[in-house]
Amino acid sequence: MDLLKEKILNEGRVVSDGVLKVDGFLNHQIDVSLVNEMGKDIYERFKDKGITKILTIEASGIGLACLTAQYFGCKVLYAKKSKTSNMGNSDLYTSRAYSFTHQTENTVLISKKYLEAGERVLIVDDFLAHGEATKALIDLVNQAGAELSGVAIAIEKGFQGGGDKMRADGVDLYSLAIVESMTVEGGVVFRE
Ligand code: 5GP
Repeated sequence: MDLLKEKILNEGRVVSDGVLKVDGFLNHQIDVSLVNEMGKDIYERFKDKGITKILTIEASGIGLACLTAQYFGCKVLYAKKSKTSNMGNSDLYTSRAYSFTHQTENTVLISKKYLEAGERVLIVDDFLAHGEATKALIDLVNQAGAELSGVAIAIEKGFQGGGDKMRADGVDLYSLAIVESMTVEGGVVFRE
């Protein structure tokens, strides 16, 4: 998506450990009109798939998920990274995701009551790197007996391989921008 790619080139910042900072418009401050256009683009790609729910993960996937969901007219469910006191274990689906960015393993969880068997789920997230977070969300969809209709990602870091592995596994994955390589000195190069 050209609008997003331009924004990344103009305002994104590559930090030394292979992390792309997009804090100014996507995952700290949010440029709502840009993210709204991204949501519209995702809708155009998946509108024929009968999506009944969008699933994301807290916190930075939520903005894009909500602006996307308004086009589908469906609800957003976001996986939490910690349990609140009113959530009993038996009421939850849980999975685990290792974060290479933060070098920690997170448990991700959703309430069983918000994802039912037979629902058609679109997973939406801000970044896909090694694919761990997305894989954990897919695991939650499978545990619920729901159907994975597709995965939409704002920025895929293609050089970290998670996206290509997922495509090879048959996942209908759509990334609005795929970063093929990036360096602090040379900036970002997108996949054609
Ligand atoms: P994965 O599980 O695919 O390896 O990483 C996905 C998660 O890690 C994303 O949800 C995002 O929070 C974080 N992440 C991975 N790479 C980057 C990056 O380059 N920049 C930012 N801001 N977050 C990243």
